[in-house]
Amino acid sequence: MRLKNYNIYNFSSIPQLNNLDPKLLREMEVVSHILPFKSNNYIVEKLIDWNNIPEDPIFNINFYNKGMLKEEYYDMVSYYLNKENSKEQLANLIYKIRQELNPHPSGQIQYNLPELNGVKLKGMQHKYKETVLFFPIHGQTCHAYCTFCFRWPQFTSDMFLKIGMKNVELLIEYLKQHPEVTDILITGGDPMVMTARHLSQYINAIINARLQSIKTIRIGTKSLSYWPYRYISDPDSAKILSIFKKIVKKGYHLALMANFNHPRELQTEAVKKAIHNILKTGAVIRTQSPLLNHVNADPDVWIELWKQQIHLGMIPYYMFIPRDTGAQKYFAVPLVKAWDIFSEAYSHVSGICRTVRGPVMSANPGKIAIMGVSKIFDEKVITLNFIQGRNITWVNKPFFAKYDKNALWLSDLKPSFGEKEFFFERSFRNLLLDSKFKIADRADYSSLCS
Ligand SMILES: *Cc1c(COP(=O)(O)O)cnc(C)c1O
Ligand code: SF4
Repeated sequence: MRLKNYNIYNFSSIPQLNNLDPKLLREMEVVSHILPFKSNNYIVEKLIDWNNIPEDPIFNINFYNKGMLKEEYYDMVSYYLNKENSKEQLANLIYKIRQELNPHPSGQIQYNLPELNGVKLKGMQHKYKETVLFFPIHGQTCHAYCTFCFRWPQFTSDMFLKIGMKNVELLIEYLKQHPEVTDILITGGDPMVMTARHLSQYINAIINARLQSIKTIRIGTKSLSYWPYRYISDPDSAKILSIFKKIVKKGYHLALMANFNHPRELQTEAVKKAIHNILKTGAVIRTQSPLLNHVNADPDVWIELWKQQIHLGMIPYYMFIPRDTGAQKYFAVPLVKAWDIFSEAYSHVSGICRTVRGPVMSANPGKIAIMGVSKIFDEKVITLNFIQGRNITWVNKPFFAKYDKNALWLSDLKPSFGEKEFFFERSFRNLLLDSKFKIADRADYSSLCS
């Protein structure tokens, strides 16, 4: 298949859209003025079931509807789109709404920037001891944009700090000074949008540095869902696969951290072939996805997803809770319901699928799993557990929150048993005060894909 991209300017040329209710087209058009739309012919022809609109899960992760934008924003944009001679007002409005949605307003960004000899390192993030995130400049877009992803300010903005080949030496130098780091996680956007030439430059720099402490190279990607031909028939597909082979041959554990939101994405001949080609290089594929209302908020969908992943040779890894962004309630699933869905699915698969952890909030203090709902004496509680923490002493120490069936995020939860705060909060505050340790929430966004 030859790639054909769709964006806000040419989406009306998608033949399948012509049969839809014009109301839906209008909604798409309005929302796409605020949130960026990008799709392609594979998604349109092979993944979306056009007889099932607007319920179709793949349609919902790639095409916008009214519910994905705050009503007042929607109404304002719609008004100015209709009004004549209001181009400038519309542009101002779009700018203003984007500023408000932007989780990192300008001037206030503080990343988890690692420091080397007193200098902040851009395009990297070091939050958990063993793993450094690495944002190559050539991998900060995606084959298509997910409607649930709030990483888009990063795609468009200069504020976002990316790493270019020019300063990869800094990453290497940092890793030399931090032998506790065992994993490099290359992330985006989607690093697999990179050409084989660019990818090999980054990889060669890492390999040639011969860092004894680095054992694992991970690549976060949604390419298997959105463009499996990346590993089959793109002009540089063979070269991509040979880079993977080389990484493995040099003795690294190579893990593709693949994002799959629905079993439909695993059904095409193309994705099966792509998975097969990747596994043949010696790489492993671990899978993750957020739990999303209107897409996969159903235990049967997860049972099918995990079983099919195992069948194709992949390893289930994380189920994430999408962050409650305030503006966007469309995909939100309350924590207790998320745990219900996870447990129901988890209890219907064999141990081979149960490598998956979840449901997990990738929150500012760490990755926190919802372990369950229990009753301890007379108090109903939600049991939580750190899977990763900014402070490693927090990890795997279950703690309790008051039962709240509507809570959507850690910030909605209160400690149980009369405690004033959760056990980690004091030391978390101290971390925040430590000037060397700049805290940001970017990790909450980066983990949707990576
Ligand atoms: C999720 C995440 C990682 C990787 O965590 P693992 O549990 O090792 O997969 C690393 N850094 C950040 C910032 C993350 O959010
Ligand atoms: S979830 Fe991943 S593939 Fe989707 S838009 Fe976000 S970064 Fe890109």
